[in-house]
Amino acid sequence: MRIDLHTHSNASDGTEGPGQVIRAAQAAGLDVVALTDHDSTAGWVEAGAAAVDCGIGLVRGMELSARYQGITVHLLSYLHDPTYQPLIDLTSRIKAARRERAKAIVERLARDYPIGWEEVAARAPDGVAVGRPHIADQLVALGVVPNRSAAFSELLHPRSPYYVRYWSAAAPDAVATVRAAGGVPVLAHPGATGRQRVVGDGGIIHMYDAGLAGLEVYHRDNPPEQRRRLAALAERLGLIQTGASDYHGRGKPNRLGENLTSPEALAAILEQGRLGLVGGPGRAAAPANT
Ligand code: AMP
Ligand code: FE
Ligand code: FE
Ligand code: ZN
Repeated sequence: MRIDLHTHSNASDGTEGPGQVIRAAQAAGLDVVALTDHDSTAGWVEAGAAAVDCGIGLVRGMELSARYQGITVHLLSYLHDPTYQPLIDLTSRIKAARRERAKAIVERLARDYPIGWEEVAARAPDGVAVGRPHIADQLVALGVVPNRSAAFSELLHPRSPYYVRYWSAAAPDAVATVRAAGGVPVLAHPGATGRQRVVGDGGIIHMYDAGLAGLEVYHRDNPPEQRRRLAALAERLGLIQTGASDYHGRGKPNRLGENLTSPEALAAILEQGRLGLVGGPGRAAAPANT
């Protein structure tokens, strides 16, 4: 079983539609894939239909923005009830904060580059969690930088004068809200040292006390020593260990299936989640082979 539990569509900052992500997952030889757009479940319905069509399993997920003592953290939520109002309120607030913040970054950039908010907003319609990747795409279109990665390393990184932060909930509170929604909270890329400071063991234990279910140990942004540290901590606390690509279509070099989750870890997530798998191997809508 090839299981990849972290991907993005154009419901957030991926470049492909949710159905395209599912078809790409099938083409990459995956059996189960999770769609985990930033702060949005808008892709779930289209992804679910495609999963049934393709006969691959879809885990409905989301990647919530949160913070821990000033450090931005991303919290994956799997299989939560999408009608649970406190979680809807939380994501609405994050999306509104993201929009104000993106406008502020564009205003700063506009002092030096011919960039305008309208063109950026057109890349992220209402309901889409707008982020720096959408600003990056406009900078690419203007010929300021050759691609998204260059936009990040030259202009959009956290120490850049154009960078602006945005509001998000404290991570233990986000964990508790995901649990209350029947979701399975897994800390995304917890050892991503290339981005900023990482949360230490004490912080992860704080989230564990709030209901954290797992750690995304196997992610390209976690260097080997971080993977060892996270695997040891997960062992000690009895946390689920996942692996995933964090695929963003053409928006990032990450390839589907480059890191995988074990069937046992998936079973534990399905056990704890409010929702089930959509589609799945041998459950294609196309004529059955029996
Ligand atoms: P934001 O959500 O605005 O804070 O932007 C962060 C998002 O940008 C992350 O979730 C990544 O998906 C994406 N990102 C970060 N670095 C890069 C990069 N070098 N190239 C493309 N996308 C990136
Ligand atoms: Fe992203
Ligand atoms: Fe992330
Ligand atoms: Zn992600």
